[in-house]
Amino acid sequence: MSDNENLWYEIPSTAWISLARRGMESISLAQCFLKNCDNEDIDLLEPFKKEESDDNKKHIKKIHIKCKKCGGIFQLKFETIKRVAKPKNMNKDEVEDDQVLSIGLVYALDEENNNLGHIGYF
Ligand SMILES: [Zn+2]
Repeated sequence: MSDNENLWYEIPSTAWISLARRGMESISLAQCFLKNCDNEDIDLLEPFKKEESDDNKKHIKKIHIKCKKCGGIFQLKFETIKRVAKPKNMNKDEVEDDQVLSIGLVYALDEENNNLGHIGYF
């Protein structure tokens, strides 16, 4: 297995899209997000580069992926927004996992960093 194949471990297999009042639906991220391409074959997608940046508000990870069907390159951008709640008056019973919140957003970008759209949440 090459290093590039390991990049799939950096990519959640699905994202969640909000369907307004009808709840959430999962979609596969193993597909080509470029216009006019319907590639959903993971074997025809090749992640080849990862970029990461971090500040105190969010963590951004971009995975560059080449589509072997249309020959194009796109990026999946994962943005984790840190919202760590720090309650002032806390006793033991009130400490719950959901007081530490973070939100993950996933976007598709083309090769030139043009936004192809907000895909959903991860
Ligand atoms: Zn494609």
